[in-house]
Amino acid sequence: MKIESAEVRYVELPLISPWRTAYGEDPTIHSIMVKLTGGGHSAWGESTPFFAPTYSPETARSAFENVRTFFLPRILGEEIDLAAELLDLLSVFKGNSFAKASVETAWWALQSLSISEPLWRVLGGKQPEVVCGADFGVQDTIDELLALIQGAVDQGFPRIKLKVKHGWDIEMLEAVRSTFPDPVIHVDCNSGYDLHEDADTLKAFDRFNLAMIEQPLFHTDLIEHAELQKSIGTPVCLDESVKSPRDFKLAMKVGACRMINVKPGRVGGLYYAKQIHDMAVAEGMEAWVGGMLESGVGAGICAALGTLPGFTYPADVFPSSRFYTEDITHRWIEQDDRCRVVLDETPGVGFEPVTDRLERVTVAKFNLDA
Ligand SMILES: [Mg+2]
Repeated sequence: MKIESAEVRYVELPLISPWRTAYGEDPTIHSIMVKLTGGGHSAWGESTPFFAPTYSPETARSAFENVRTFFLPRILGEEIDLAAELLDLLSVFKGNSFAKASVETAWWALQSLSISEPLWRVLGGKQPEVVCGADFGVQDTIDELLALIQGAVDQGFPRIKLKVKHGWDIEMLEAVRSTFPDPVIHVDCNSGYDLHEDADTLKAFDRFNLAMIEQPLFHTDLIEHAELQKSIGTPVCLDESVKSPRDFKLAMKVGACRMINVKPGRVGGLYYAKQIHDMAVAEGMEAWVGGMLESGVGAGICAALGTLPGFTYPADVFPSSRFYTEDITHRWIEQDDRCRVVLDETPGVGFEPVTDRLERVTVAKFNLDA
């Protein structure tokens, strides 16, 4: 399939309330959307690096510039029949996984449209359902958090993820576990702790019967994660530290984790996300799909990935109404009464941007024709 034209957009999606984590507060999601056209079809991809380089060294601004200056000109006019061919064309450019993923996910969307198949099946999914968990950022008070958890328990969410940071960790977990002793709960530290300075806190997490502790330490430090994993019983799950299948291979080699969170943006797209899934399955390691508060397009892509059989822990794919007053897609991401996002046979991603809504949230755009 020849890539005949391409478009990249920088979009800003206002959240209902700010998303608060160990690295700060995001009132608005900054996302990169790419449209590729070829073979009589056009399709959108998305990745969400955020406004500032807080989650990773990338930003939405850097991604936009890299996509329009380097990546789109590199693939325009090329015949690309496999994701690996696309990634090969981009391989001269180092890093910038989110920027690459915005292009690569658009290629998968276009590919699945061109063969009239839903993306989830093209990726290798067997069943079109993805079981999802509930997530709560740092709240103003513990009482507010307990009320949110009660709501998630009442809705039957199969697991609850809590963002933690200094000052919002052990005392908070004591209150949560004394009120909710049984639900599956895990914490996400977003690299907020230090192996030595926070040794007592890190050990104390073992008291709360957590399903995992997600990304406790510095975002590049596999060795210290391995040291930590040896010293605590709670499984360590890596997120920020694994930006490629190569990183994951190293992480497994040194014993840095017992679980893996897979996000297409963070690892450079769906091809690499599938590879990491396959590696986890081969190791017998539990894997799950994470999220970056994408619009319906990106969340639909994450949901499609989440149908792969090795993703056994509930995903971070959220209903559009959880974070946005208005999503940009023609239909919104929804969960059924069993906390599942259920996909269908619609070719492609199945969640397409509505032109005027997309226009309203677009801050910058750039078009390229062969
Ligand atoms: Mg995380």
